[in-house]
Amino acid sequence: MPDNYLNIQQALQKIELANEVFLKKKASFPIRPIEKVRKVGEILLARKEEFGRVITEEMGKALYESYAEIEKSALNCTFYADHCEEFLADRSYSTDKYDALVRYEPLGVILGVMPWNFPFWQAFRFAIPTILAGNTIVLKHASNVPKSAQLIEDIFLEAGFEPGTYLNLPLESRHIEEVLNHPYVKAVSLTGSEKAGSSVAEIAGRNIKKSVLELGGSNAFIVLDDADLSITVDRAIDARFRNAGQSCIAAKRFLVQEGIYEEFLSKFSERVKEIKLGDPFDPTTTMGPMSREDLAEELENQVTKSVEMGAKVLVGGNRNGAYFEPTILTDITTEMPVFKEETFGPVAVIMKVNSLEESIQLSNLTSFGLGVSIFSKNVNLLKENIHLFEEGAVFLNQMVRSDPALPFGGVKKSGFGRELSEEGIREFVNTKTVFIA
Ligand code: NAP
Repeated sequence: MPDNYLNIQQALQKIELANEVFLKKKASFPIRPIEKVRKVGEILLARKEEFGRVITEEMGKALYESYAEIEKSALNCTFYADHCEEFLADRSYSTDKYDALVRYEPLGVILGVMPWNFPFWQAFRFAIPTILAGNTIVLKHASNVPKSAQLIEDIFLEAGFEPGTYLNLPLESRHIEEVLNHPYVKAVSLTGSEKAGSSVAEIAGRNIKKSVLELGGSNAFIVLDDADLSITVDRAIDARFRNAGQSCIAAKRFLVQEGIYEEFLSKFSERVKEIKLGDPFDPTTTMGPMSREDLAEELENQVTKSVEMGAKVLVGGNRNGAYFEPTILTDITTEMPVFKEETFGPVAVIMKVNSLEESIQLSNLTSFGLGVSIFSKNVNLLKENIHLFEEGAVFLNQMVRSDPALPFGGVKKSGFGRELSEEGIREFVNTKTVFIA
């Protein structure tokens, strides 16, 4: 257990503080801390290098990727500062019999449980809209990013937020149940694995408390015969190997139509061989190590089992500690672990398909439903088929990515609820109906 971890009594004191601050803020509803949120964004940008280095030190992504994460977190602050009033404005209804309005009021203390793969982005994506809606936050971050976790609380304080608005809750996950049982904690947002999600949602359900779950994904990346490979290959590289492949929305299964298969495979392989795996602080490195050695071992097991079942390693395939070579596997069947399970690292799995129909069927053949990318010049044909994908997002001629302006989340075992955009800021509110006779 890391040195700074709280025992459960200390954690419960933090919850009490967060509730006190919530009650004070509630009394001045609906004054929103818009300027403080802008300040958070300014601090992020002003100290981007310092924060970026902490991310890289803690979880290993290449430094340029850490800087991009800080910039995106700042963008989220600006986006919500600009739009929160409009997203949470009262809605009025009038008929000849009555007047009514719908008002969005905060709930109280909201628990966040967040992962290490984007330690700043995941926390800010949840915290900024939730605080602007009038709630306060206690956030249990992943155990391997303790410095990032504390820095985020410090940034809120530096921006002028009252202590207790956003509290870092360094705590063992076994104590989450006591936190969620606490009457002041009104809801939870968890980003992480299916296992953690189902455990936390079960506790929330028992307490009749709302949960938002952003879990795993096994996104397909579909390339049809008429795709423009000059953009498709670039997007494919980014979609699979960014963040050393440790992203829920990464493209994990490449489904390529037979007419373009050989050309795609050849161009994609050339580009994968150019990826420079190395020290994440070295500016020439394009891909850093995986976050932890045990996670690299897990990925290696998935690859080894799949190779035993007949998969071929076309590029890479080797591991040295947490350093996993960018890898391409072909000759895939739907029974292999690399197809059936989420591969949370730099392994691209490529399958040949005959038709759009077959690609849709294989894309849906997973327990997850976060997103899919499809590349073709025939955008009209793609649009006609959007409804057939069992996903939270369909990206046409683009990799799946998150954007503060667009709702983000999944279906099936990828979870429920949405973050970002208008939908995200309305997850942790009491939608109050006011009727005036
Ligand atoms: P994880 O093991 O589930 O950890 C995520 C967070 O949950 C950590 O803070 C962890 O704390 C905590 N946790 C773990 N088990 C728990 C439990 N039983 N009760 C309460 N909290 C628990 O996931 P990870 O391996 O760090 O992250 C990778 C997973 O997250 C992947 O499946 C990925 O697809 C998913 N993810 C999803 C999204 C999305 O937006 N959909 C985004 C990023 C990642 P400790 O560190 O203390 O164990």
